[in-house]
Amino acid sequence: MWSSLALRHCPGFHGSRRFLATVISGTKTSRLVKDRLKVEVEKISSEFSGFRPSLVVLQVGQRDDSNLYISTKLKAAAEIGIEAKHLRLPQTATQEEVLECVMSVNNDESVHGLIVQLPLDSAHFIDAEVITNAVSPEKDVDGLSCVNAGRLSRGNMNNCFIPCTPNGCMELIKQTGVSVEGKHAVVIGRSKIVGAPMHDLLLWNHATVTCCHSKTPDLPEQVSRADILVVGAGRAEMVLGDWLKEGAIVIDCGINHVPDDTKVGGKRVVGDVHYSSANQRAGFITPVPGGVGPMTVSMLMENTVRSAQRFLLKTHSWTTDTVDRC
Ligand code: NAP
Repeated sequence: MWSSLALRHCPGFHGSRRFLATVISGTKTSRLVKDRLKVEVEKISSEFSGFRPSLVVLQVGQRDDSNLYISTKLKAAAEIGIEAKHLRLPQTATQEEVLECVMSVNNDESVHGLIVQLPLDSAHFIDAEVITNAVSPEKDVDGLSCVNAGRLSRGNMNNCFIPCTPNGCMELIKQTGVSVEGKHAVVIGRSKIVGAPMHDLLLWNHATVTCCHSKTPDLPEQVSRADILVVGAGRAEMVLGDWLKEGAIVIDCGINHVPDDTKVGGKRVVGDVHYSSANQRAGFITPVPGGVGPMTVSMLMENTVRSAQRFLLKTHSWTTDTVDRC
């Protein structure tokens, strides 16, 4: 538990009076990340006569939600100066055809990052795991291949790509100024894209981590022990304010649509945390929308720029002050 002194210094506490949690804005933080990346790309471009980091987004089919996510990624890339290409395969594409396309991008030296937009929208059965593992680990800027996941799980963080959503969560936790080392972190969810890599990332940043899932008994009890809580369960407003430890950092990855007659379209987006009760107990909290969501795209851009820098290091013996970050 926080000591009473630490509590008094916690955001939200002023003597014995309780104020609302400090909001960690993903919109603002993601803007800062994009601005920084833009400067880095300009610098690389001027040092290497027009060289640009390059990203390929491979899509199978035509899902509306995927189209929207891809357009957000292409827009962010354009803002930063990353060259982004959208490759589309039709719904009729087979696993072999998708693999062929992945291999051809793997072999294209001018491309530094390749992501396969999931879920795949195909008329045929395609094993998404086979496809994500076919992406060269050096270009796997989504960090979803077994090679990158294995490296992260062993704490080999300088030699892997960290999946974008957990990486964005860590950036948001850093924004609080609270050190992760020695804290008790609780992650709800163990998916490949959010929960499992979040567990690894917190662990190798020296937190003591508990990872919960749908079979965890007494979730409120687990949550009550968290100095840092990251929720990626996909359950609308599941985590209630009175489950939380006073002053906890609460990072909400959830994106859930709930009915709301007052909104155009009859629904609104909420997280996995019940915001209005949680912000009365948390020290810091991310909103939904405007929290983790914008960070995911920025971290994809960050991984793409790092990949391009690693490519330059290998091929041009490049050394600059950004080398340490690669
Ligand atoms: P997922 O693959 O469905 O995984 C959900 C995880 O939560 C599973 O591990 C599941 O446990 C666990 N879980 C489900 N219900 C639970 C409960 N009642 N108690 C405890 N654990 C429970 O989902 P995901 O892809 O990780 O995504 C999670 C959420 O994050 C979703 O709302 C998604 O929309 C959002 N998301 C946001 C971003 C972003 O950019 N902001 C990116 C990715 C995902 P089991 O393993 O036992 O089934």
